[in-house]
Amino acid sequence: MQPINVSGTPAQPGCDEHDPNSLSVEQAIERIQSSVPVITDTITLGIKDAFNHVLAEDISSPINVPPYRNSAMDGYAIKAADIPTTGTTTLKKVGTSWAGTPFAGVVNNEECVRIMTGAKMPDETDTVIMQEHVTKDGDSITISAGHCNGQNVRHAGEDIQQGSIVLNKGVQIRAAEMGLLASLGFAEVTVHRPLKVCFFSTGDELKPVGSQLEDGQIYDSNRYTLHGMLAPLNVEIIDLGVIPDDRDKIRQAFHDSAAQADVVITSGGVSVGDADFVKETLTELGQVNFWKIAMKPGRPLAFGQVDNAFFFGLPGNPVSVMATFYEFALAGIKKMMGLTNQENIVVQARCTQALKKRPGRTDFQRGILSQDKNGELVVEPVGMQASHILSGMSQANCFIVLPALSGNVETGSMVDVQPFYGLMS
Ligand code: AMP
Ligand code: MG
Repeated sequence: MQPINVSGTPAQPGCDEHDPNSLSVEQAIERIQSSVPVITDTITLGIKDAFNHVLAEDISSPINVPPYRNSAMDGYAIKAADIPTTGTTTLKKVGTSWAGTPFAGVVNNEECVRIMTGAKMPDETDTVIMQEHVTKDGDSITISAGHCNGQNVRHAGEDIQQGSIVLNKGVQIRAAEMGLLASLGFAEVTVHRPLKVCFFSTGDELKPVGSQLEDGQIYDSNRYTLHGMLAPLNVEIIDLGVIPDDRDKIRQAFHDSAAQADVVITSGGVSVGDADFVKETLTELGQVNFWKIAMKPGRPLAFGQVDNAFFFGLPGNPVSVMATFYEFALAGIKKMMGLTNQENIVVQARCTQALKKRPGRTDFQRGILSQDKNGELVVEPVGMQASHILSGMSQANCFIVLPALSGNVETGSMVDVQPFYGLMS
């Protein structure tokens, strides 16, 4: 019988794409999400300051919305019984109901009240005739047959009933949620405290931007992509900079970061045969697993705990950093933040080109998703797909996700696409 690896893929000795010790993308996400806790500390913030935070409690409405019956139109509030079945009827205007200043009197049969949009309906009335549908003559209006009982009236509690749950905990507060909270009269709201995420880069070859490169050196770019990927999440970012390949300094960086953060992210130094001290230090300090993920780009991933912090050791190549952050670190971070909607959006699109792929690993190719002239979603791969080509990531607006077991893709086939827009919220 053929050996089966943990991702369920038949292992093929000697073939680089199949590794019997690898984890599937789904398995890794599952392990991460089941390992990390939700941060339970909460803070109370004014609703504007709560923008992008995650709600820590269900919100039930203290009021009916709308709070009272009101008019949906500028017109005349009448009793439905006064609508003629044939011909016309003339009604006497006895007052006006303004938005904010309701009519204070009583409306009798064959009387009406001038009413503005949003103004309170007088108790005795139940129907509004649009002003365009009446004939005015001094203090009287004439209406004809054909109007419906109860038309143009918004009822109390029609949108939201007092006591009903309007927002569930775990929701991220954005524009609509802020407006909704304001419409219910909430000045403050209780949210999860922001997650503290610390990252640093390691490597003697890495130089900070603004410095001169010498032979064999490159600029440290991963901290900038990490910063950009974390920024929309409203987490507290702690950037420890570049740590040289020095055993003591790396050990110290792990201690420092774990002492002040909920999550620690590094890039590089986790692949097999790496010469630096990241792996060695982690093995000594924490409970960290070094996984081979059946994905491309981004095979090596370290995940576990260093002191009280959860640790994601991402691969070093810039595209791998982005792919593993979006697929794995983001899944863990979203759970820790208390977000309940954690699924990345996947849509189907027609691929404009043939794609080369060997079965074995889930491939996250970089693509440009658009609509063709018939409105159909189409995706075009960006030129170079290697894991160090960050410019391709910049041209792309999505990952083309090719499942582990799939092979080459023919031109015009439907493929799964994960838009970058929406990945972060
Ligand atoms: P490693 O996993 O440490 O062997 O790194 C894999 C590749 O990613 C190497 O080419 C590194 O130079 C590169 N790399 C590692 N860290 C960074 C970084 N912070 N910025 C840019 N490239 C990096
Ligand atoms: Mg390295």
